[in-house]
Amino acid sequence: MTVGEAQGRVLLIEDEELIGTLVELNLAQEGFDVEWHKLGEAARNKSFVEEFDVVLLDIMLPDADGVDLLRELRSMGVRTPVLMLTAKGDTDTKIRALDLGADDYLTKPFDVHELSARVRAIIRRAQGERHTASAERLPIGPYSVNLQTRMAETREGEVQLSEKETDLLEFFARHEGKTMPRADILEEVWGMEVYVSQRTIDNFIVRFRRLFEDDPENPHRFITVRGVGYRYER
Ligand code: CA
Repeated sequence: MTVGEAQGRVLLIEDEELIGTLVELNLAQEGFDVEWHKLGEAARNKSFVEEFDVVLLDIMLPDADGVDLLRELRSMGVRTPVLMLTAKGDTDTKIRALDLGADDYLTKPFDVHELSARVRAIIRRAQGERHTASAERLPIGPYSVNLQTRMAETREGEVQLSEKETDLLEFFARHEGKTMPRADILEEVWGMEVYVSQRTIDNFIVRFRRLFEDDPENPHRFITVRGVGYRYER
């Protein structure tokens, strides 16, 4: 996967060699573009931090306290999402970090797959917020969806969409032109905790084609990529 296709840019600030190596390898493998720093001073540069989609911030750093760094970032007006990497059982620190504007936290030792799922969720939320702020109407060819009311202008006239349908359309719009495996769609739109069969996606696609394709039997927007998943073309 090239940098241009990266799932997001991650700034990792962690002094522990083993944890840093594991996190960097795993996130890179999952398509993230990771930059690893071992000192807290990396988080003191506003414009540098703002180049990233998410910051993974260790609390016990050789030159700084992660919670103090978080406070500094927020007071400088940096809104980049921050996930704190906390020591086991330190509830006070967690609460303090969340109060100061951390977006999430993970307790060490953590599962790297859980970390990547959390990172993905944070980036998705941030993109969703930006998206909703910039345009509440999502165009789909000659049709469209109002993301606030979930009312859609479709081939069959005005249709009220469900929250999941709207989430899935937003997901496709964010990944326009890219082939998305079914497992990724499930993980991002339905989350890890809920069991949903991959068939569920197929049912949504059938409905999307009926609503948003000029000829549902011959789709040009919601395209099946055999053996993989789907690709959306506006
Ligand atoms: Ca540390």
